[in-house]
Amino acid sequence: MAVRYEASVPRLLAEHGFGPDKSVTDAAVNEGGWEKCPRGCGYVGAPASVTNHIRKHHTNKES
Ligand SMILES: [Zn+2]
Repeated sequence: MAVRYEASVPRLLAEHGFGPDKSVTDAAVNEGGWEKCPRGCGYVGAPASVTNHIRKHHTNKES
């Protein structure tokens, strides 16, 4: 089950974007082992991607 989610979730996210379809991102987080950006910007991705995202988009600002 988890393996199927890992394969399908990135494609779903690519099709729907990071828009208001929260059920998709929640499924990615809960079933796919992904993480949400702790800064609350809505970014969702694999843990390494979230770390990289924070470094790129949040470290320069005080937020
Ligand atoms: Zn973020």
